[in-house]
Amino acid sequence: MNDLLIMKFGGTSMGSADRMRIAAQICADAQKQGAVAIVVSAMSKVTDLLLSTLRAAEEGDQEGVRENIRTIEKRHADTCRELLPPSRQESVLASIHALMEEFERLSSGILMLAERPPRSVDEALAIGERLCATLMAACLDSSGTPAIAVNARDVIVTDAVFGNASPLLDLTREKAMKTLGPKLHAGVLPVVTGFNGATVDGKPTTLGRGGSDFSASILASALDAKELWIWTDVDGIMSADPRLVPDAAVLDTVTYREAAELAYNGAKVLHPRTLAPLMDKGIPVWSKNSFNLAAPGTKIVPQAEGNGPRAVTSMSNVALISIEPASPAINGAMLMGRVLEALGRANAEVLAFTSSSYRQSFCFLIRKDEVDAALERLESELSLELEHEYVHPIEVDDNVGLLAVVGEGMAGHPGLAGRVFTAISAEKVNIIAIAQGSTELTISIVVRRDGLERAVKAVHAECRMGVRG
Ligand code: ASP
Ligand code: MG
Repeated sequence: MNDLLIMKFGGTSMGSADRMRIAAQICADAQKQGAVAIVVSAMSKVTDLLLSTLRAAEEGDQEGVRENIRTIEKRHADTCRELLPPSRQESVLASIHALMEEFERLSSGILMLAERPPRSVDEALAIGERLCATLMAACLDSSGTPAIAVNARDVIVTDAVFGNASPLLDLTREKAMKTLGPKLHAGVLPVVTGFNGATVDGKPTTLGRGGSDFSASILASALDAKELWIWTDVDGIMSADPRLVPDAAVLDTVTYREAAELAYNGAKVLHPRTLAPLMDKGIPVWSKNSFNLAAPGTKIVPQAEGNGPRAVTSMSNVALISIEPASPAINGAMLMGRVLEALGRANAEVLAFTSSSYRQSFCFLIRKDEVDAALERLESELSLELEHEYVHPIEVDDNVGLLAVVGEGMAGHPGLAGRVFTAISAEKVNIIAIAQGSTELTISIVVRRDGLERAVKAVHAECRMGVRG
């Protein structure tokens, strides 16, 4: 559908009746140019609350579960009353109540089992988005934009990795056409739940926390949309985190690869998996601020004129794990292979990896909250080598931070890495590890945690990232 625009509204853009009204106005304006479908997140903080309710259920805290259910229902019912004309409220309040009953049933199951089966968790968490889609569709419809709430369970087909599912694009295309096509042709705006989907045989899944961006890009790709607009509460993709770097600037354009690198390296504006489904088709993405409609936002495009490093990101919730063979009898490459496989099985994402060829030691960076699972796998994989001291004890250093300098235009520019390192050393920040892939798209640098912010500021200033033009 080549005049279709997909827009995604995040939790803060859906956070209250006022925010929903603004979103509805954005939709009405956009519809003047052609067909529109939207994807919505749950209202801000609702997914967290649903999740903590399920945890309370697992721990047998029946009163806590009840209390949370009341809070969640009240938030949506209050929003409904504020949002809709009285004649429209009754049926929406009934839908909200029915969804909360569904949630209560799933929580009771978890209470009884004293355990949270991942499939039930996914089904229960998706209720946040379903509540929001119900409200948003009613808001649009009652303000003159015919709309209907759609559960993405009937649109997005995924594998069965509960909690972090991946889309099956061909099946999704078929299903999306069937479910959404007739609505769009009839001029009705579908309000699709973000974050969730279902397996081929209909089991409910979710795409991972923050996954509504990904839902929107899956839909944009499946329906061959002309553009995807992602509405958040910041002005676009920035040259650095403005909380760390006051003169950080919004970037007018970035490439898919730059945006994906930034997202994977800690920039919070987009879910890291968002861009992959769009790259082949070259569908442009805009990151826009629903709290500042005057700001143009950032356009994410297949290619842009590269002019050096574009942005620097940082992550402080990371740990560096080092592994060093103690005996020359150890084959370093084999050891690395086994370690990487163990990390994969522990579901730990390797953020940076470096090795030295002489002593065959190597180190890698992962998220702090993945360290326990990773260590458990590694220690069992290497148990013999560790026991017989063929490998030194595994070292974990969590007093570190990662900064990543990203830009397509860095490729083939000698001297750039030197400037970056000099700027960091001038701040007396010690560099612990460095990684740069052969695409020269990103330089990843691990530093002491307490020097991270100074290093980010220094690199941002040295590369003049906040300066336009
Ligand atoms: N509501 C989900 C979450 O909080 C998905 C999203 O917001 O994108 O993770
Ligand atoms: Mg989000």
